[in-house]
Parts: sequence; C-alpha cells; structure tokens
Amino acid sequence: MIEVADRVLPVSADVSDSGVLAIGGMPVTELAKEFGTPLYIYDEATLRANMRRYVNALSANYPDALPLYASKAYSDPHVVKIAAEEGMGLDVVSAGEIAVGVAAGFPLDRMYFHGNNKLPEELAYALEAGVGRIVVDNFNEIDLLNTIAGQAGKRAQILLRIGPGVEAHTHDYIKTGALDSKFGFALPIGQAEEAVARAQAAPHLDLIGLHAHIGSQIFDIEPYVDTLDLLIQFAQDMTDKYGLQMTELSPGGGWGIRYTGADDPPPIEDLAETVAVTVKDRMAALGWDLPRLVVEPGRSIVGQAGVGLYAVGSSKTIPDVRKYVAVDGGMADNIRPALYDALYTVLVGNRMHDPAEETVTIAGRYCESGDVLFKDIAMPVLNPGDLIAVPSSGAYCLAMSSNYNLVPRPAVVLVNDGDARLIRRRETLDDLIQPHLDV
Ligand SMILES: *Cc1c(COP(=O)(O)O)cnc(C)c1O
Repeated sequence: MIEVADRVLPVSADVSDSGVLAIGGMPVTELAKEFGTPLYIYDEATLRANMRRYVNALSANYPDALPLYASKAYSDPHVVKIAAEEGMGLDVVSAGEIAVGVAAGFPLDRMYFHGNNKLPEELAYALEAGVGRIVVDNFNEIDLLNTIAGQAGKRAQILLRIGPGVEAHTHDYIKTGALDSKFGFALPIGQAEEAVARAQAAPHLDLIGLHAHIGSQIFDIEPYVDTLDLLIQFAQDMTDKYGLQMTELSPGGGWGIRYTGADDPPPIEDLAETVAVTVKDRMAALGWDLPRLVVEPGRSIVGQAGVGLYAVGSSKTIPDVRKYVAVDGGMADNIRPALYDALYTVLVGNRMHDPAEETVTIAGRYCESGDVLFKDIAMPVLNPGDLIAVPSSGAYCLAMSSNYNLVPRPAVVLVNDGDARLIRRRETLDDLIQPHLDV
C-alpha cells in the first residue's frame, strides 16, 4: 500500500514512524483537528512542480508555447494565482471562472474562454473584462460574438474549436466515430471549413487559430500527434482557400494521472516534448512561422496536488454479503465514483503502517444508495474517528461538488513547508439558508 501511495500522493507527502501521513509538513491528524473533516488538502509544492514541468518542457522545445491551467478542474483564486506566478495561461468556461481569474489578478490577455453554449452576457463580460481569446464552438456563437463585439466596438481574437474526428479516453482511442459530440465544428463533414469561411467574413472577429480537445485522462501521445496533423493539414487547406493565418494552435488538454497502481501515465515531459517537436517539424516542412503552441492541462496540474480527508463514522456488517463503513463526506464532494465508477487509492491517514485485515466498502453519508465511494477495498479494521485519506482528489471533485442533502461544502487548506492556510472556509448553515428569500 505504501508503495502505491508513494506514486499517487503529493510530492511533499511523508509518513511518520507512528504511521501518520503528512502533506506539506502538516500531519493529517493535526489538519483534521484544526479544520475539521471532510477536508480537501492542496499541496503547493505539487501544484508548482506540475506547472513547472509543463512550462519547462515546452519552453525547452518550443520558442512560443503557453500552457493554460484548465481551471474547471478546480477553480480557486489561490490556485489560479499560483498558475499566474508560474507563467501559465488560464482556460475558463464560464463567467464564474473568469471572475475567479479576475479576483486572483490573473493577466486577462492569457485567458482563453471555452464552452459550447456561452451566454450572451458571458461573452459581453469576457470582452469587457479583456479576456484575451475566445474559443468559438459553433455557428450561433460566430454570429453572437460578432454582434456583441460590434456593439462593444471591439474585435474579438478567436480560435475555432475543431472536432477532428479523434477521440481518446485513457486506453480507448477512437479515430472515427467521434462525430457525435456536442463540442466544436466537425472536420470530416465540412462544418469546420464552413466555420472558417464564416469567421473570416465576420467583421468583428479575428480568426487567429485552431483548437481541439480530444478527451480526458489520456495516457497515449499518438492521438495528440494525429490531432495536430489533422489540424495542420486543415490549416493549410484553409490558408489556400480563405487566407487563414494560423498564429495559434492548440491540441487541448486531457493528459492522465495515476489514481491507482493500475494507472501508468507517461511523464508530462513526454507529452510536452512530442507535441512541441511535432509542430516544429510540420511547420518547417511547410515553411511557415511557428504559431504559438497552447496546451490546456487541468487534471494533470491539480489532481495529484489534492488529498481528500474524511473521518470514519458508522459501519454495518451484512453477514456473507459485505461490510459498509461510512465516512462524513461522499458524492456531494466527490461524485466521480458514482458518476463513472472512478477508482482511487484509499489510505488510512492516521494508521499508514497498519496492515489490511478485511474487505470493506466505504460509503458516503448522502441519502442515495449509489453514494458509495470505494467498493471492496482491503483495509485495517476501521474505527470511528479514523481518517480516510484519498490521494488524486485535486481535480473534478470539489469542482463538481453540490449541497445535496443541504450539507455544507468542505473546507480547503493549502499546505506548504509546515504551514497550512485555510483558502476556502467550510460552508455554514447560514450559507445554505441565505439564498432562500422571504422565509
Ligand atoms: C476539460 C478541458 C480541458 C482540461 O482537461 P483535463 O483532462 O483536465 O486536462 C482542456 N481543454 C478543454 C477545452 C476542456 O474542455
């Protein structure tokens, strides 16, 4: 267990002789005492390390590359501020995520606004705030953004989101049949070409580049290379036909992380180098200037940096069937197991050296039979108050959290070098009541 834990935990993780897990020099027992549970712990050293891996590997291989932190993985002003400090750009998908960037003082010219149904008021807000790039998804948006930019007396710098017909999820890589997607202009059926024609004709839009995003939790580099080749071939055609000048190119995000010992994603550097070298090669062959190369990692920036921490409460044994152990969180703070059978490495944060003694299923506290976090896992005999630590919880957990059952959302701490800073306070009952008007 400790061996797997080593490969999923944040870089600063350590285990004391007495078996207590510490992150950023802070024992989880102390964090639980001071901040309560459930608690999400983010490790600043891991955040910065993962950001630097992208920044350094790209800049070593490409003169003008910009990795964006895809903030939907976990949109928090403190994390976004760290991304700004590390020289990253920001991928946002709503006015809310733009506002988080604004609150963090993020340089807006390095912000890219994505989404398949951006609202008129969101587009107006983005233009007014000075968001640098809008990644246009569909024909309605070409017209809408053109109108809104015209009214605001601005020109919008846009990329088109292209559906290249490549789709990848972990080990499952589909080259055809990815047409059926709600995102983007489909390349194989001519919609991408029509989008270029229309965008080039729109007086208030500057079409400067092409973008694709082919999936998430991807472990193979090949689909990125294929995507780049399709985009570049398409750009060549569009340059000939419509005078497109591609000064930016993005194969999106989606790089995978390790959740359990069964996951084996190649290092970030492999992806960054291959993508950079591929674009350089193809541009040299075409005799084109290098476009700015944009990549958009979310999960592979924050996933490993976050650890979920729960306290054990009740348990129930059904003889010859299963033993349930319940914790004080569940599907409202981490819906991934219920939503798509996501697996995790599960640790007992206060008893890291204790051997497994039985097979249990860890259930959440929410009133839903499907609120099961971790099925049939080997654990020591757990007692109320034991701390369940869940590595790889930094991405798409709190980001998808809800107030189901009117349970306040957890607190979040940022740890570093023996210091823990509360960056999001635990919600209170007042937070839950307050939006309901005129009781
Ligand atoms: C979600 C998303 C990302 C980030 O995906 P990860 O799997 O978290 O790396 C990047 N770009 C776009 C357009 C996205 O929708």
